[in-house]
Amino acid sequence: MNKQKRYQILSRLRDNNPNPTTELNFSNPFELLIAVLLSAQATDVGVNKATGPLFKVADNPADMLALGVDGVKDYIKTIGLFNTKAENVIKTCRILVENHSGEIPQDREALEALPGVGRKTANVVLNTAFGWPTIAVDTHIFRVSNRTKLAPGKNVNEVEQKLLKVVPAEFKVDVHHWLILHGRYTCIARKPRCGSCMIEDLCEFKDKTEI
Ligand code: SF4
Repeated sequence: MNKQKRYQILSRLRDNNPNPTTELNFSNPFELLIAVLLSAQATDVGVNKATGPLFKVADNPADMLALGVDGVKDYIKTIGLFNTKAENVIKTCRILVENHSGEIPQDREALEALPGVGRKTANVVLNTAFGWPTIAVDTHIFRVSNRTKLAPGKNVNEVEQKLLKVVPAEFKVDVHHWLILHGRYTCIARKPRCGSCMIEDLCEFKDKTEI
């Protein structure tokens, strides 16, 4: 895909949604970190249902730690993999309290050292809580980047590196959310809705649908 086309796609996505954000509910960086950690193999809606009551009693690492693993499980048992996730939440909170004065570090290495936090989660936190121009490639971004040919790649790392290289600076902070939302609601996995897609004329996908 050429530069001009890429620019047009990103401009259109921006015009349609100038201030995109995550669909996970959070009110501080700690809550965002926990919500993202809980969101692996779960929907944002499902995570929000669980974190609503959980964050009412624990919106910081010290209060979450006080709940203990079993206490956290009581709030998140509707979410997949809740046993492991509850353990990771508590281990993470312990490190945040003991090594980071209860704050979320604005540092990739420190974030990725937290149990249950990988590159993708660190990217989301750095981007969404702190405004870094990082791009967390999830299944939606991977699919949209490959179908459109915006930033094709064989795996999530390749797509991330390609996006970082080709997305102009003015779009970098928000491209992550635009592509996720586009993949979630328009360029959906099973059958993309090309007929009602705002970038249909620019997209280079070969098997476009009419719906
Ligand atoms: S035209 Fe179709 S394949 Fe291309 S981005 Fe839109 S929905 Fe996805």
